[in-house]
Formats: sequence, C-alpha cells, structure tokens
Amino acid sequence: MAPSQTFVALGSGFASASAWAAMAWGLAFFAAIYVLLCGGNWLLTRHLLPALRIGRRIDPEPLRDGQIRYELLLSALSILIFGIGTILPWAFLQLGWARLASDPGPVQVAVEMLALLVWNDIHFYANHRLLHTRWLRRFHVQHHRSLVTTPFSTYSFHPLEAILLGNVILLPMLLHDFSFAALLSLPVMSLLLNNLGHSNYDFAPAAGHDHWLSASRRHHLHHTRYHGNYGFLFNFMDGWFGTRLPEEPPPTTAGTAPE
Ligand SMILES: [Zn+2]
Ligand SMILES: [Zn+2]
Repeated sequence: MAPSQTFVALGSGFASASAWAAMAWGLAFFAAIYVLLCGGNWLLTRHLLPALRIGRRIDPEPLRDGQIRYELLLSALSILIFGIGTILPWAFLQLGWARLASDPGPVQVAVEMLALLVWNDIHFYANHRLLHTRWLRRFHVQHHRSLVTTPFSTYSFHPLEAILLGNVILLPMLLHDFSFAALLSLPVMSLLLNNLGHSNYDFAPAAGHDHWLSASRRHHLHHTRYHGNYGFLFNFMDGWFGTRLPEEPPPTTAGTAPE
C-alpha cells in the first residue's frame, strides 16, 4: 500500500472509531511524540552535538531545583488535555463539519503541511500575545518558570494554555478537507520546532538572528526578557507587530522573572 493510502486508511479508522478509542489514540499519540522528540532532543543537544563540537549551549546558568520534574508534570497534564481534546477533530468528522481528503497526492500533502506550519505560527503568536495580557498572564507564568529552557519545557503549560494552543487544528479543518497525513504532521512538526525553540542550544551560531534555525536564540530571549519575540518558528508576526527583540549576547537569568 502506498504511504498516502496508509494514512487515508488510518484516517478512516480514526473517523469511524468510538469516542473513547479516539481519545485513547490521541493520548498515546501525544505521549509518544513527546517522549520521542523531547527525549531525542535531550540526547542530541546535551550529549551528541557537544561531543561532535557542533553548535553550542546558549545559556550556561543552571536549572532551578526540581525544574525538570516540574516540566514533566505539567507536560503530562498537557498530554492528557491534548489526548482528551482529540475528541473535537473526531467530532467534527462525525458531525460532517469537516472531511478528510479521500485521495491526496504527495504535492497536496506537502502544500497542506506548509500551510499548516505558517498557520501554526499565526495561531501561536495570537494566543501567546493573549497569554501575555494582564487578564491571562497568570496562566502563562507556569511556562515562564523555565528561565533557562529545556526540551521538556515544550509542553510545560498551565491547562488553559494547553487548551488555547491545542485547538490550532480546528479552524483549518472547518475550512478545507485536509489529508490525514497533513493533519497528523502538524503536532509532530510543531513539537519538533518547539524543541528547537526550547533546547537552549544554538544549532547554527553562524545563522543570522532572523534565520529559522535561530529560533532557539530568539525564544531564549523571550524567556529571559519576557516581553517581545512572541513568534514560534518564524518571526514575521513579530516583525509585523513591532514585537521583535534585537539580537543580544545571551543574558544572565538573574532578575528577569516574569511579573
Ligand atoms: Zn511567553
Ligand atoms: Zn517558551
């Protein structure tokens, strides 16, 4: 069976599953990608790349006591929310509000993936700005407790933040019949790139401040400066809305805790 047909079959299986099966499937999916991608990133940036002398650590400050445990605990809660939330795209399919592409070719899947990646940045920027408002910032301080970030900071959110960020797929599904492969790829790409942003590791020190590979430097600045650089992988939204932070040497983490 061609890879695209495998995903079509998986999509049909998901759409016709029971609500409980859909949520269990979502839970297993988000837990698996978190363990694989965050654990993989930890191995890559804490062991493999330093050993090969590729890239460099950004912030040399130590983690605060119990930080990893705290991040893992909040991430487990986020995975639970994302897993339960899988019932929403499932319900959209059940109710006929959304449909899956029945015979997508590789070009369609690639274009959809790219569109979802750009949408993810727009959605993240809007929700992240909301989370920095006076009304919602108390639900975002949990994520900002990681002044020096780690791969495990990626899902370290308050449950409300997990709900806001987790709904990224819903609007696109209402507007277009996506391939199941592209829909599945969004959480994977998002977590992969979120890992880039939170790795506290400069993968390409020679890359310019606006390069996508410099997302780790830009998001590190967001965690240490708190205001500015609200974008995700790209920084076009920060450019448009005047929230782009200028490049600077890695700051120390002292005295920059969020309000
Ligand atoms: Zn923030
Ligand atoms: Zn962050």
